[in-house]
Amino acid sequence: MTASLPTQRVPFNVLAPGVQAIRPDLDAAITRVLDRGWFLMGPELEEFERQFAAYHGSNLEAVGVSSGTDALRIGFEALGIQGGDEVLVTANAGVPPVAAVVAAGARPVFCDVDPATHTLDPGEIDRCITPNAKAILVVHLYGHAADMDSIRQRAASHGLKVLEDCAQAHGAQYNGRPVGTLGDAAAFSFYPTKNLGALGDAGAILTGDPRVAERARLGRMYGWRTRYLSEAHGTVSRMDEIQAAVLSTKLAHLDEWNARRRHIAEMYRSRAAGAVELPPADGVFHLFVVQSRARNGLQAYLAEHGIGTDVHYPLPAHLQPPYAQYGGGPGSLPNTERLARRVLSLPIYPELPDDSVDYVCQVLRTYGA
Ligand SMILES: *Cc1c(COP(=O)(O)O)cnc(C)c1O
Repeated sequence: MTASLPTQRVPFNVLAPGVQAIRPDLDAAITRVLDRGWFLMGPELEEFERQFAAYHGSNLEAVGVSSGTDALRIGFEALGIQGGDEVLVTANAGVPPVAAVVAAGARPVFCDVDPATHTLDPGEIDRCITPNAKAILVVHLYGHAADMDSIRQRAASHGLKVLEDCAQAHGAQYNGRPVGTLGDAAAFSFYPTKNLGALGDAGAILTGDPRVAERARLGRMYGWRTRYLSEAHGTVSRMDEIQAAVLSTKLAHLDEWNARRRHIAEMYRSRAAGAVELPPADGVFHLFVVQSRARNGLQAYLAEHGIGTDVHYPLPAHLQPPYAQYGGGPGSLPNTERLARRVLSLPIYPELPDDSVDYVCQVLRTYGA
């Protein structure tokens, strides 16, 4: 322990203060749904879809579903990905992107990441391309936009569709354009901890292609355009009215919350430089992920000083039992595997006070000093 620093408690994440900050508006939104007595596929969903699409630009459509993983799966199906097709995907974003590829009936082809940005290394597209590859899943990891110009150019040259995974990047921009508008379609998660989070599970598909939107709508409910009449096979994945009402309420705060995340990131970047390797300066900082050669020791040291951290993610997907069959085993994705040993996520959320960030930086600077 460092005697000179009185221990503070800085949890890795807490959601109650964010709810508290807008509690009357959330109560009003939920009450509206209760009073109406219409709980699925109603006016709140329609309104949220309209607002979420408009937030990203004109001529876009959003399709609400019940999770981010389903948004990816239904997004693939809407792009025409079928059994036997292959999808290029990174292995460092946890399991959901890879699970969604498999759930869509396709095979993941694992690509390595750029060690500086943690996102798909565009050069990997040319290295990993296979005859059956039909799409690329691009994850804007931790809130940092991937190198979309280069990715799109290579995707076009190989005839691949591009699905963006924006689960960690609501409101992020790439060259002045919002992520989610840079590929053929995009999938968002509104898991409670995301930059835009529901009070439970929810997700959405965003696209500028009306045919893709149409197929996604069929895909979220039994292939119905008309009730009880299936045009295509589909199960069910609906965003409920309470989540839609809550998300419309919270969408109005997204930019201000992202600005607060960026402010915290700036504090970390200026006060913790030298103590750890810092992430890129751009993005909406869903997570603030530093690197350290002695990651586990650093995590334990921060815990001793009352600071919560997490590792996103400890085991790359290509090394996990259900998905190892699709990959080349240990050593096949060197950057991904090296990052998995080095990454550590520091606390970052809009309600985190400046003095807590300061305290984390002070403790970081004493580590190994
Ligand atoms: C959270 C997340 C998902 C999955 O979203 P759920 O709503 O939990 O299904 C997918 N991809 C990434 C990168 C995520 O962070």
